[in-house]
Amino acid sequence: IHSRENNAPYTVINVGDIKIGGGNFTVISGPCSIETREQMNLIAKSVKKSGAKILRGGAFKPRTSPYSFQGLGEEALLFLIETKERCNIPVITEIMNQTQLNLFDKVDIIQVGARNMQNFDLLKAVGKTNKPVLLKRGMANTIEELLMSAEYIMSEGNKNVILCERGIRTFEKASRNTLDLSAVAILKEKTHLPVFVDPSHASGINFLVAPLSKAAIAVGADGLMIETHNNPQAALCDGEQSLDLNEFEELMKDVKKRVEFE
Ligand code: PEP
Ligand code: MN
Repeated sequence: IHSRENNAPYTVINVGDIKIGGGNFTVISGPCSIETREQMNLIAKSVKKSGAKILRGGAFKPRTSPYSFQGLGEEALLFLIETKERCNIPVITEIMNQTQLNLFDKVDIIQVGARNMQNFDLLKAVGKTNKPVLLKRGMANTIEELLMSAEYIMSEGNKNVILCERGIRTFEKASRNTLDLSAVAILKEKTHLPVFVDPSHASGINFLVAPLSKAAIAVGADGLMIETHNNPQAALCDGEQSLDLNEFEELMKDVKKRVEFE
């Protein structure tokens, strides 16, 4: 169902009055993890002013170590929805398992993370909803496997799938992951689904986020998902790769010069 064969037109996904894919360019931004109500309010206002159309923030965090901050869970979802309503901006957050689905009513886009890309029960469950799903490529999964995971969602009836390249594991250790830029161009060739790039998790390093964002635009991405924080040094998760609010504003000025921006 994902294939561009037979001249299938590029999918356009509506999120409120925002259109994702089909020649539109969309930036999602916000913190790795939701920490406080005040933080979300501050970040949302700032990234929206800079041009982000969708606010991100993790409530349930899939951390490598069980001793790391796991996210504020349901309380974080409350802060996220409050911020959505106060700042009038759609929101995206990650789901970890299908029992959480009932908490996602007011969430605009459901994120399925890299570590859950082949959690087939979860894929089927989000496929039974009609909410847009941002599906991240697993760090050790092929493009074909990513497309088959999209197929798990779409074959249940939900055609609103956004693919996201977020870097894969290679032998290289200088960056957290290696951004597979070819994957973006290959996906645009093979599928009509919108393709996003997450330069934050791909790089793991603050200074790499801007150049990788520009590279993503150059290879044809439909959008970016960028981690931002009002005080990256104090972030509870992924501070090293987060842009501060001024850095994000500067990057967005550059992005706007390179793409057709609503
Ligand atoms: C995230 O976006 O916060 C995240 C955990 O990303 P990934 O699933 O790509 O590691
Ligand atoms: Mn993160």
